[in-house]
Amino acid sequence: MEVQHGSDNGCWHFLFTLPYSLSDNLHVNEGNDIPAIRPSFPKRIGARIERNLRRVYTEAKYNAHRSRAYRSGQTDSVADVVVIGAGIAGLAVAYELQQAGHRVTILEASSQPGGRASTIREPFGDGLYIDAGGFRFSPTHFLIRDYLRLFDIQYTPFYPARGDMFVYLDGKLARRKVAEPIDPDWLPRTLTSEEKWMFAQEIETNMYRVCGGVDSLVDAFVKRLAGCIHPYSEVRQITQDKSGVTVEFLRDGDKNSVRADYVVCAVPNGVLKNITLNPAPAPDKQEMISLLANRPSLLVYFQMPTEYWTGQNLTGFGVTDTVGEIWTPILDPDSEMCLTISYTKDDAALELLAMPDEVRVATTVQRCAQFLPWFGDFVQKNVVISWDEDRLICGSRSTACYHSQSQMDAVRRAEGRVHFAGEHTASLQLGWMEGALESARRVTQEIGTRAS
Ligand SMILES: Cc1cc2nc3c(=O)[nH]c(=O)nc-3n(C[C@H](O)[C@H](O)[C@H](O)COP(=O)(O)OP(=O)(O)OC[C@H]3O[C@@H](n4cnc5c(N)ncnc54)[C@H](O)[C@@H]3O)c2cc1C
Repeated sequence: MEVQHGSDNGCWHFLFTLPYSLSDNLHVNEGNDIPAIRPSFPKRIGARIERNLRRVYTEAKYNAHRSRAYRSGQTDSVADVVVIGAGIAGLAVAYELQQAGHRVTILEASSQPGGRASTIREPFGDGLYIDAGGFRFSPTHFLIRDYLRLFDIQYTPFYPARGDMFVYLDGKLARRKVAEPIDPDWLPRTLTSEEKWMFAQEIETNMYRVCGGVDSLVDAFVKRLAGCIHPYSEVRQITQDKSGVTVEFLRDGDKNSVRADYVVCAVPNGVLKNITLNPAPAPDKQEMISLLANRPSLLVYFQMPTEYWTGQNLTGFGVTDTVGEIWTPILDPDSEMCLTISYTKDDAALELLAMPDEVRVATTVQRCAQFLPWFGDFVQKNVVISWDEDRLICGSRSTACYHSQSQMDAVRRAEGRVHFAGEHTASLQLGWMEGALESARRVTQEIGTRAS
């Protein structure tokens, strides 16, 4: 079922209307009438981002790309393909190749498939769950919507249609209606244009989430790939010769190997350097394997009573320049409890990552209390998620959009019989699940063309 996003054209409200006293930090932004302003994109990085943006949001181009990718179709010539990594990219490429008639084996180093597209249910009560990556997708993310429809999985607006979001910047606290666009000129002057652009993106509210958690999509792939997925199988070496590829991996500490016609490497770029490629890849690819990183992030999840958001006509969603984004997807308005996430990124995340877990939580609570003084009093449980410290992932989303077209061509280019998938190898939606799916379509086509 596709759910229409509610539109709500309100204006800014300030939290001084709330019935409790706010911290002394509150400085009210003057005037509600904020003109719409185009962010300017100066210099090298800005120009590249704008180029990428233009490519991303042209629906016609995207559809042309999709129909090209679909052409691989059914094959008479069956290939054996080993897929390394059972994230969204690995699962989708395995599914598409299997649909085209090929034999697939998926080697996944961790205990379970999904990679960064995962959902957390423990230790929370009351049937609460929350995603730990792959939280939201935009209406222009056609592939994920196609798969959700195909697997009959529902999705729903990520942001509630009613209530106010809050913005806390430079010590100023304000309310805004959910669907209201942010004016980049309102953002602190200390931010670079690129940071302003990123901030404005983060308040983009026309987004969806997968009902029941993003692991529903993972489960749907897994169900269709029954028997093909091998957990606890960490690939260490890939050796190719004229007739095929040998993949060596550790399973429960024992050395194993498997032979295939083609290999799809769908691990994050940051961990690719832990896999030896024989022969070594071309120098430009080698360079990108060491260069391309993931953005740092830290997530802290708080279980708290729902009424502390709804009672204030707040959605529980907000953007700050201290803890980053705050999200409270309320699954059931009648539930007494909800989960609030603080999603801290980049330099602010690096600062938290240098601290032990309990200090990360205490610091986050303290920072939230600067704009919501009651915050710490109602936290019942908390969980910290650090993808940067997961040695099989190493960060949140790739920094691919900072690299040039030729560098990115090297990242996604196949080396002989070894193909590369993953969000960091996408052409359009780098960093997103959509990018992971897009890369899966490209690799399906690459292998389909070679195998036929
Ligand atoms: C905090 C956070 C927030 C995010 N928010 C969003 C969002 O709102 N919307 C969105 O669309 N995307 C979001 N993303 C990004 C999204 O989750 C990723 O783009 C997508 O899930 C990446 O899929 P992937 O298959 O490319 O890689 P991954 O999910 O990283 O999968 C790679 C797999 O490879 C396995 N692996 C690693 N090394 C080996 C090895 N040697 N042998 C075998 N297996 C190995 C790993 O265990 C993993 O399962 C977010 C990510 C994070 C972390």
